[in-house]
Amino acid sequence: MGGDQSLDHKSKALPDNAFALILRSIHRLRHNEVYQHYFARDKTQPNIEIRTREYVDRIILELDSNGTLRAAGVQMQTASGHAITAKAREEVIITAGTYGSPAILLRSGVGPKEELRQHGIKTILNLPSVGKNLMDHLVMLSFYEVSKPGVTNDHLIWHKGARERTAQEYQKPHTGFFSQFSFGVFAYARLDERLKDSELWRNAYRANGRDPMGTLPSQPHVEFWNTECYSPKYMYRDFPPDGRFAFALATEFFAPRSRGEVTLESADPTKNPIVQHNYLSDPLDMLLFSEGCRFANEIVLEGLGTKDIIIGSWPAEHGHHSYKTREEWQQAIRQRADTCYHPAGSCKMGRKNDHAAVVDAELLVRGISNVRVADASIMPTLISGHPQMAVFAIGEKVSDLIRESRKT
Ligand SMILES: Cc1cc2nc3c(=O)[nH]c(=O)nc-3n(C[C@H](O)[C@H](O)[C@H](O)COP(=O)(O)OP(=O)(O)OC[C@H]3O[C@@H](n4cnc5c(N)ncnc54)[C@H](O)[C@@H]3O)c2cc1C
Repeated sequence: MGGDQSLDHKSKALPDNAFALILRSIHRLRHNEVYQHYFARDKTQPNIEIRTREYVDRIILELDSNGTLRAAGVQMQTASGHAITAKAREEVIITAGTYGSPAILLRSGVGPKEELRQHGIKTILNLPSVGKNLMDHLVMLSFYEVSKPGVTNDHLIWHKGARERTAQEYQKPHTGFFSQFSFGVFAYARLDERLKDSELWRNAYRANGRDPMGTLPSQPHVEFWNTECYSPKYMYRDFPPDGRFAFALATEFFAPRSRGEVTLESADPTKNPIVQHNYLSDPLDMLLFSEGCRFANEIVLEGLGTKDIIIGSWPAEHGHHSYKTREEWQQAIRQRADTCYHPAGSCKMGRKNDHAAVVDAELLVRGISNVRVADASIMPTLISGHPQMAVFAIGEKVSDLIRESRKT
């Protein structure tokens, strides 16, 4: 695969195929969490109280003197079932994530009227878009056995005693494999050229300089990365024993058109909402994802770095190294593709005339004067990348918006 290896994909347009430097939240060999960065280093902040083991049930909404809806506070529930109320002096900011934030709005009586009625929830604001527009990235990990020792990380994690040795190495002074990012090289591709033979692709509608997926020519359709460390239940249960070596090339599909929804199972805040992603319900999604997997297979089997050391698929019975067609990959995708844990979009941000929008550009819920949502759920479309950094940006942005609104 050709490509520009010096690209910073977060800031520059991509050529069709490229390698990129990836932002990683690892600092001084420690994985860096949001909590450590924003809170733990300054425990003296008097205006923050962190409470765990309490569920946010709903926002308490009332009409102000102008007849506008406003939040008076939040109703919470402890793990043992006690109700607690917190009053809001200024505003309420919901950050319960793509599955949690729409669920809180729905329990608060903000959502599609008919859906709320089914759960005995009184509609305070009929907002049919709450919980809709749900998106996610799918990923397919294809594993290959290699003949050459030392080019994969099996000897550091899967071979006999390896995990224990590597864990000890990590203890002091934070060195070794566990102190690193467990995914290797990242690469990006657009598939326009490879899809020219597809009637579905050629005839699909294109708007405003965008392709049928809604992406610009500078945005990749798929991302590839290699790893030995990934084991969702369908993909990788057969770790190589001593003397055998394998790695995966992951194909992550970045431009889904399919949309799902988050709905309530019940009005009980301790019950998870129902999540229906409708993955690959749009035929273009399956077309692009399968072409991406086919491309990844070619890279492994024909690429200079790997072609002479590939024994075949791992485990051998998967047989994907011999696949040539998109249809063969589609079969494998149906069996083994999985979430990349990037859900977004269920409280979409949008303009006033966008009926699919839940929040406006200030992240305020439409029709309520002082409730904002600030998490991945507000993304109108999923970014062509991993969303964590974008979520940090949403958090930073909302703090700017709040500061700004206090000035007026
Ligand atoms: C296994 C995994 C690996 C990932 N790897 C990467 C990666 O390498 N790079 C990357 O960019 N992204 C990665 N992501 C995605 C990234 O973590 C998410 O996009 C990001 O965390 C979303 O942030 P958020 O604030 O929207 O939601 P979240 O981080 O999910 O935060 C929402 C919080 O609200 C809480 N909550 C929900 N409902 C309630 C309620 N009713 N009351 C109280 N609390 C509630 C939840 O418990 C949660 O703590 C990964 C995700 C997973 C799961």
